Parts: sequence; C-alpha cells; structure tokens
Amino acid sequence: MQPANFYRPTFAQIDLNALQMNILNLKKHIGPAVDVIAVVKANAYGHGDFEVSTAAVKAGASMLAVATPDEAIRLRASGIESPILVMGASPPSFAVTASQNDIMLTVFQTDWFLHIPALPNMLKIHIKIDTGMGRLGVTTESELSTLIQTINHRQDVVIDGVFTHFATADDEDVVQYTSQLEKFKTFLHCFPERPRCIHTANSAAALMHKESLFDAVRYGISMYGLSPSAYVDQGLPFPLERVMSLHTEVVHVKKVPAGSSISYGATYTADEDEWIATLPIGYADGMLRGLSGQEVLIQGKRLPVIGRICMDQCMVRLNGHVSIGEPVVLIGRQGNEQVNIEEWAQKLQTISYEIPCVLTNRVPRTYTP
Ligand SMILES: *Cc1c(COP(=O)(O)O)cnc(C)c1O
Repeated sequence: MQPANFYRPTFAQIDLNALQMNILNLKKHIGPAVDVIAVVKANAYGHGDFEVSTAAVKAGASMLAVATPDEAIRLRASGIESPILVMGASPPSFAVTASQNDIMLTVFQTDWFLHIPALPNMLKIHIKIDTGMGRLGVTTESELSTLIQTINHRQDVVIDGVFTHFATADDEDVVQYTSQLEKFKTFLHCFPERPRCIHTANSAAALMHKESLFDAVRYGISMYGLSPSAYVDQGLPFPLERVMSLHTEVVHVKKVPAGSSISYGATYTADEDEWIATLPIGYADGMLRGLSGQEVLIQGKRLPVIGRICMDQCMVRLNGHVSIGEPVVLIGRQGNEQVNIEEWAQKLQTISYEIPCVLTNRVPRTYTP
C-alpha cells in the first residue's frame, strides 16, 4: 500500500472514485438543470486541489470555486482550464490578472471599481449578497442597484452570477435559512437582466433544500464524503462515500515494566507490564495534541494513543507484540473496525471540516485510482 516516493510510512490516501461517486449521486439528486460547482478552497479541504479539481471536472462539475486569488492562480498554473470563481474578497489589484486568466471574481462594493484600470480581457463578476451570514456581500437593495449600474457602465466587466451563503442550512430549524432565501429572492428583482448563474446552496442546502438550487450548487464538504452536520447526516438523500483515510506504520515496539512513564510530562504510567508502539506521526502532521486518548487501528483492533502526542511521533498501547512495519490506520477502515473523521472532530471539540484542513504538507497525499 505504501507508495515509493517517500520514506516515512505516514500518508493520507485520497479515494478519487469515492469523490466522483459523491458528485454523480448529487447530480442525480439535483437533476440535469442544476450545475455542480466543486468547492476546492484550502487545497481542496486538504485533499489536494489539482487532483480533486481534475477528478471533479471529469465527474461533471462545471465550475470550481476557491476562497482566495492565490488559490485560483495556483490552479491555473497547474494546468486547470475550467471556469474558476474566487468566492472571497479579491483586491482591485488582482483584476487585470484575473481577466487575463479567465478567473471570475466576487464583488460586493461599488468602490472596488474605482481602482480598476481598463482591462485587457473581459472580467466576469459574481455579485455577493449578504442575506444574513454577516460576512461578505451587499446588504441593501440600493447598494446592489448602484453596484449593478456601475458594472453595466463598463465595457470590460460582465455580471456572470449572483449568490449568497446560508449560515444555518445544516440546522433542523429553518427560520434563518428561510429568511435568507426570501431576502435573496427580493434582491434578484434589482437585476435588469437575469445573471447567467444564480447560486445559493452549499452542501447542506443542496442535499436538504430543493428550493435553494437555482442554477448551480456550491458543493464542498459532502463532495469529500462528510456530512455538514449530524442533522443532515440523518436525512441524507444518498450515502456519502468517504474520500480521505490516514495511514502509518509501527516504527518501534517495546515491552515496558509496570511503573514506566511514556512521553513528555510523564503523564502516562504503565499499570502493568505493557507493550508500547511508536508511530511516526505527531502534531506537526495535524495529529493534534488534543487527540491523546484517541484510538487507532492495528490488526483490525482499536488501540489507544497514550501520553502526550509529540511534534513528530506518538505512542500506542498494544495488547501484545506486533512487528515493526505493522500497518496502522488512524482514519479509515481496517478489518471490521473504522475510525471516522467525526470521531476525531468530537475528540477535538470541533467540526469534521477542520480535520482534513489541518493535516499539514508534511503528510503526502496519495491517490486512487
Ligand atoms: C466553503 C464554502 C462553500 C462550501 O460549503 P460546504 O458546507 O463545505 O458545502 C460554499 N459557499 C461558500 C461561499 C463557501 O465559502
């Protein structure tokens, strides 16, 4: 299983077939009239932006979305030719490069255009409306109308899309979601011409709320096989396939006598004679210190990480001797056991989104197929 282009046996496996299944199943669910925008910000939620983008486009995603101008440039530099939308704020100084590289920008301030020179190529804009997320976007209809007029006065800028973002689409309570959707619909009346691409839905809305679909959905977390929330997980219209698993191997094994302590701070003491394995993964890889006590899979059994997690290594209490090189699954399946990203998230008192994002560059990503 271990690919040959690195020496330390720690790696994240990315199952691109699973990713493509998650897209194909979503497409079946939303129907042929609605496009899929694959959200590949933050290095595709830690999965690898180039590989994920390529696989997503093959599976039928018509557009890619990133958070920052630099992420879009990185994709273009790696040879990705699909339409790319930058969903976050871009500085006016990026407009020329964006137009030259066919990168679409999100705009929500009329003043943004004060600083834009005549552009060498057409710049496509998606206008962002803040309907209640309180992050980015125009907040009043008069602001929106002024922005639309400003753009329509320019020959080198075109409104390609309009969108908003839901704060609570993954909640059981739909009050905020419904109010945002209604507000968005009233803002749409400000457009003299209907923009080509109207989009509101993130994964949660795409899976749960048919009336949010419009022309396209922005598919992030669930493309990677994770539910946006426990509530959405209970009502999934199709099963999600997990994309990332995390692997290493045992690099050292020893039997310690009762009373021995393990790792920094000597916070763990062996109650009896115990077998201890050392794993070559630590907090500098994204296996954060809060994961002390988390179980890993060795020979199909759950075994606990004991003592403090170090920067590069951690220790596991075994039931008996295992060999050096024994495969270890930190996230994923081994035999009949499984450790999910949600389990790590719960241990760290965070959401599943955060886990693959904080796996650092030191962990090589390997891809199937
Ligand atoms: C990250 C992001 C998404 C994707 O959300 P998921 O919950 O991961 O599907 C969609 N839209 C915007 C504006 C985002 O920032």
